[in-house]
Amino acid sequence: MKIGVVAVQGAVSEHVEALNKAMEELKIDEKAVYVRDVKDLNDISGIVIPGGESTTINRLMLTTGMHERIIELSEEGLPILGTCAGAILLAKEGDEQIKQTNTVLLGLMDMKVLRNAYGRQVDSFEADVKIPEIGNKPFRAVFIRAPVIERVWGNTKVWAKHKNTIIGVKKENILALTFHPELTNDLRIHKYFIKMVMK
Ligand code: GLN
Repeated sequence: MKIGVVAVQGAVSEHVEALNKAMEELKIDEKAVYVRDVKDLNDISGIVIPGGESTTINRLMLTTGMHERIIELSEEGLPILGTCAGAILLAKEGDEQIKQTNTVLLGLMDMKVLRNAYGRQVDSFEADVKIPEIGNKPFRAVFIRAPVIERVWGNTKVWAKHKNTIIGVKKENILALTFHPELTNDLRIHKYFIKMVMK
């Protein structure tokens, strides 16, 4: 089992560290890898697209060829976790801001995302959110210039909500979150993803 993190920009090492700790606790003798180029996607069994700047991550994924390859691998069932900017890129539909920046979405999930939708006043915040899929204990979610998932359709389902706003969605092999699970010490979400990869 080899889980990679798209390592072109953003919160990369935090995800690698969280995955490594989670694998250690699950007694899986593996280490996460940095995916910097399309060839690094060979023999990968799961991929994380981190938070950062969706425009920058998108541009670098396009120029390296990772964009096209991840779409192909997803069709073959590759498990994918996208957080914040990574979640934006997984969407099929974006708002005006996303269109104006010529961001080319991966289009792998039936959802519409609104970039920076919490607005200036609430640039960043933390909240205890309920995610029944990972247990009863609330998860401390860190939102940083987070997007909002406006709606889902087709086989993309709501996975988590906070105050009536969708903050997590899932479709068979893909999980997208508008917050940063790699910035807390709670490893439950990374463990959940590792289990998706092991299936
Ligand atoms: N605001 C960023 C974007 O739109 C996402 C922020 C993040 O990933 N923390 O790309």
